[in-house]
Amino acid sequence: MTLNIFIGMPKKVFLISIGLFCLTGMSFNWGFFAHKKISRLAVFTLPPSLAGFYKKNIDYLTEASVNPDRRRYAIPEEAPRHYIDLDDYGDSAAYTLPRYWNQAVERYGKDTLEARGILPWHIHRVYIQLKEAFLLQDPEKILRLSSDLSHYIADAHVPLHTTRNYDGQLTNQVGIHGFWESRLPELFFEQYDFYVGTASYVPNIQLAAWAMVQQSNQAVDSVLNVELQLSRSTPSKFSFESKGKQTIRVYSQEYSKKYHHALNGMVERFFRNSVKRTGDFWYTAWVDAGQPDLNRLIGYKPTAEELEKRKQELQQWKEHTVKAREHEGSEN
Ligand SMILES: [Zn+2]
Repeated sequence: MTLNIFIGMPKKVFLISIGLFCLTGMSFNWGFFAHKKISRLAVFTLPPSLAGFYKKNIDYLTEASVNPDRRRYAIPEEAPRHYIDLDDYGDSAAYTLPRYWNQAVERYGKDTLEARGILPWHIHRVYIQLKEAFLLQDPEKILRLSSDLSHYIADAHVPLHTTRNYDGQLTNQVGIHGFWESRLPELFFEQYDFYVGTASYVPNIQLAAWAMVQQSNQAVDSVLNVELQLSRSTPSKFSFESKGKQTIRVYSQEYSKKYHHALNGMVERFFRNSVKRTGDFWYTAWVDAGQPDLNRLIGYKPTAEELEKRKQELQQWKEHTVKAREHEGSEN
């Protein structure tokens, strides 16, 4: 960590900066940019039988795609659904862990699994719930679960969601989590090619969820080592930027550009895959539910009761009654 940025500052500015530095620490209040983009873009992968209903509700799908992160602060069971610390299970865990939840519980017990994160199994669980919502033709549930599923699929495409060194805290790289998943996509998203083709059927959802986690886990070393190398050859990696009335400390644009470039398209690749896989999983749930006619649901509007429920949930999540592992920039 370098404090070069403070050299030459007038004392008052220096003190304000230190204050802000302490206030914001290493959290990146960049919002939930990537999750929202992924959910939104996934709608455009869908074939016509689903596209009408999903497009009609695209704003909700976009906004609600970050609800699972909000929920982590209110519901204790929520936190482990967003990651899996594969290194806690020893070498090659991405390949050797039981693929199905019941087998995993048999081998390790529920408590151990939950302490280490349950992301790939949870993706499967939400998929099953979504399939049931299609069977029931319940528009509210279809939308809620589609946006949840999009969230967990996106999380499975973030390498640092698959390791106990999730924020570089074990390698003196604290802050790298938000750097990779929030700062980089926000800065470079406009350059990405998000045409990913049409959603396709996934023959085995649970194995496909594991394949995502495996791929992400393979990239952990690069995510960490590339930044470590870069930080050694770069005297200062931080700068200050304004956000609303706040000034916050961020990885500088120049440093971000270098890291993004050195990762050789990795961030774009993982985000493109998140979009494609979200569309694939939505589509597969619908097919597996017998391809219900979604045009019958096209006139759906949330009831006053549902709107009130959403409002109350948001309020409850904002209260932060549960302490959760930071991984997305929060809204506060
Ligand atoms: Zn998450």
